[in-house]
Amino acid sequence: NKSKLQQAEKIKIVGEIAASVAHEVRNPLTVVKGFIHIFKNEKNITRDQIVSLELMDSELQRAEKIIHDYLSLAKSKPTDLEKLDMIEIVKNVVGVMESYALLNGVNIVTNLQDSHYITANRSELSQVFLNIIKNGIESIENKGSLTISARKLGNYVEVNITDNGKGMSDEEIKRLGSPFYTTKDQGTGLGTMVCYKIIDSLKGEIKVNSTINEGTTFSVILPLVEQ
Ligand code: ADP
Ligand code: MG
Repeated sequence: NKSKLQQAEKIKIVGEIAASVAHEVRNPLTVVKGFIHIFKNEKNITRDQIVSLELMDSELQRAEKIIHDYLSLAKSKPTDLEKLDMIEIVKNVVGVMESYALLNGVNIVTNLQDSHYITANRSELSQVFLNIIKNGIESIENKGSLTISARKLGNYVEVNITDNGKGMSDEEIKRLGSPFYTTKDQGTGLGTMVCYKIIDSLKGEIKVNSTINEGTTFSVILPLVEQ
């Protein structure tokens, strides 16, 4: 499919540019951060000044987070592939995201029992689930829940992540994965793109089912390691 190839090529170039810019911007940020810490330790500093410095610090942290997102675009080839239990990876990521969920009034319910072995790069695969779970949490405006389950489907394993958040229209689903597509004030629009890229490289698939005002299910499907 030609247009799919062109899209992939576009994404690659965007990724490379974004990553090199991100890399260059990181150095001056580090310098500014260093000075903030020096000022914070000054003797004659006022309370107001401390508040301002702390704000500067947290804004810098936000910038660093965005840069981190962009840099992860450049890593196109999954190096260090290993045999992994997909379920163990998902459980670890859930552990990491639990406090973020709590903060957003989201209850995470898991139904993850058996092991399912696949071949992947540990940190990349974790990134996929982190991005999807994070989006699920962020789709819930007030209180809600995120349900995560897994099952074997022939020679594949499927992990389903379902939120009861705001959902997406068909138009919105189509735009998922294109670079910089975001509906959030502080979004980068890179999370789902990174997910698609990583799962594609592992010969897997991501399926999305969504209903406006009801919720969304992301299904991550990967080939099982042959027994
Ligand atoms: P970001 O989270 O920075 O906006 P993403 O690539 O992770 O970037 O997501 C792109 C957009 O896709 C989001 O801004 C949101 O509109 C939509 N989206 C992704 N996941 C969900 C979800 N679970 N429920 C509703 N909308 C979603
Ligand atoms: Mg996101």
